[in-house]
Amino acid sequence: LADRWTGLDKNVWVEYTGLAAQHKAVNLGQGFPDFPPPEYVTKALAEATNGKNTLLNQYTRGYGHPRLVNVIAEVFSKVHNRPINPMSEILVTIGAYQSLYCAISGHINPDDEVIIIEPFFDCYEPMVRFAGGKPVFVALKPPQSKAGKEMHSSDWLLDMKDLEAAFTPKTRMIILNTPNNPLGKVFTKKELSDIAEICIRKNILVVSDEVYEWLIFEPYQHVRIADLPGMWERTITVRSAGKTFSVTGWKLGWSIAPANLIRNCQVALQNVTYTSPTPIQEAVAVGLEIEKERMDNKDQCYFYTLPAMLVAKRDQMADMLIKTGLTPIIPEGGYFMLADYSKLKNLPSSIMMSTEGDEPKDSRFVKWMTAEKKLATIPVSAFYSKEHKHLAENYIRFCFSKNDQTLDATRKILDDWM
Ligand code: PMP
Ligand code: GLN
Repeated sequence: LADRWTGLDKNVWVEYTGLAAQHKAVNLGQGFPDFPPPEYVTKALAEATNGKNTLLNQYTRGYGHPRLVNVIAEVFSKVHNRPINPMSEILVTIGAYQSLYCAISGHINPDDEVIIIEPFFDCYEPMVRFAGGKPVFVALKPPQSKAGKEMHSSDWLLDMKDLEAAFTPKTRMIILNTPNNPLGKVFTKKELSDIAEICIRKNILVVSDEVYEWLIFEPYQHVRIADLPGMWERTITVRSAGKTFSVTGWKLGWSIAPANLIRNCQVALQNVTYTSPTPIQEAVAVGLEIEKERMDNKDQCYFYTLPAMLVAKRDQMADMLIKTGLTPIIPEGGYFMLADYSKLKNLPSSIMMSTEGDEPKDSRFVKWMTAEKKLATIPVSAFYSKEHKHLAENYIRFCFSKNDQTLDATRKILDDWM
């Protein structure tokens, strides 16, 4: 293994997705919806490969298929309330992953420091390290335990003193994620304005991972840091068609930023994959063209009907967890819910007491639950740096973006728990 990858060989998705399959468990682990996507996107994909325009099976423009970047520009000019140039201010990539990779590797030099807020989507850390950068972690502050009370992801707060203290003369970038995976926290305008103020004062780049931007539960509102005064010129916003249209397996994402920043991301992209699959881009373009026309109609637009459907699933999930004795943290967005399992009775002492190796308790619990209860989740320590994993050891993450059958199967396992 090349030195650059040393220490980055473990991957939570490889490990826990494999485990879920091995035990044929009900899978609330890796995040993906198991209900069908809107029919018009799957039809558009079939048409893209089988239709009259056979050239849609060939390479398209490297930085993004023209039909797709044009409609992304139209939709997001509306969203950001400013003109976005389809050719110079958008970069289409293989999943949001590759947008993150291009943003990080296109800007980070060896020894640059990158601030990451914990809990964080796991790939940020290895991407920064691979670029030679140094991740600097700032953990959200969990609330004091509120026995018997509902917990909400908005109770996790960013301490601005902690954040300010993390900056050094080497800090180049901060990576944000709202709505947050795994916590489901939707950062408030005040929190983002405070972060923006520091970034402007210290001349810092922001990578804002907003892949769950449409999955917002009322009454919460998604605030885009790029829209705050003085932020457009320093922000790269990362998005995902997989989340937008419930097609995670399509692995298509894009970045939006001013042309000078997109240029640096383009250089990274053109030297790794050069371009993304044409039929997928065509189908996503068709989907966005359809939704663009009804963005003002919340009863019809998938951007709004999807979270309206998910909120019922969120509440179902919370209800079944509470009945089993877990304490859920109610998310304001996204499709994940954390739950504190530490008050469950009769857990094997091998989980609660073991000091074997340095495997966090939540990982041991998830492995035990997947094997014994046939219910797969993700340990939350996977979303923390090594030095802070203990902050997460009582929490596991459930994905509730699931069809009724999967949720019923989950309820049965939880009902029969004792
Ligand atoms: N960021 C976050 C916060 C995510 O949850 C995901 C989901 N994997 C991604 C980025 C990557 O998205 P994609 O599947 O489009 O690469
Ligand atoms: N975003 C999804 C999750 O958090 C999937 C991650 C992945 O497949 N790498 O579960």
